[in-house]
Amino acid sequence: MQHISLVTPEYAARRATRANSDCPALWSILDSVFDPELPYVTIWDLGILVDVEQTTQHSCKVTVSPTYSGCPAVDVISDDIKAALMKEGMQSVTVEVSLSPAWHTDLMSPDAKHALHNQGIAPPAQVVHCPQCDSGDVDVISQFGSTACKALYRCNSCLEPFDYFKDF
Ligand SMILES: [Zn+2]
Repeated sequence: MQHISLVTPEYAARRATRANSDCPALWSILDSVFDPELPYVTIWDLGILVDVEQTTQHSCKVTVSPTYSGCPAVDVISDDIKAALMKEGMQSVTVEVSLSPAWHTDLMSPDAKHALHNQGIAPPAQVVHCPQCDSGDVDVISQFGSTACKALYRCNSCLEPFDYFKDF
């Protein structure tokens, strides 16, 4: 699974932003917020969570970048972020949606790619591999899988169909 364990430079940069933040506790609270369409991947691991700033003792601003523009999940994500932070004592939470720079699959953590793999979804990669048998001998069946973010593939080695999380 070498191809999904790599830390991309983009993810390393996100980790540095988080490590240098003056409100690490708020980032930790947001580790409990999952993507509504991929409920086994946190918004941090997916790369949607861009920044967290504490503005006063009881207020903060969270910046998110949705996985694609017009993603209907962004309202749910925004509500989940507010609920998680307010439960821990924040009184005012502003969620800002940033479309630029656009979300990109290189922002995902290796954990997110492993989580997709464990769900039978091939994570984004230069070469698509079958999540069942790891073969690189695969064909696209449809550009649209179970959601707009995924494409449907079939493995020519084990003949199993699988979803591929598209590289944007
Ligand atoms: Zn296979």
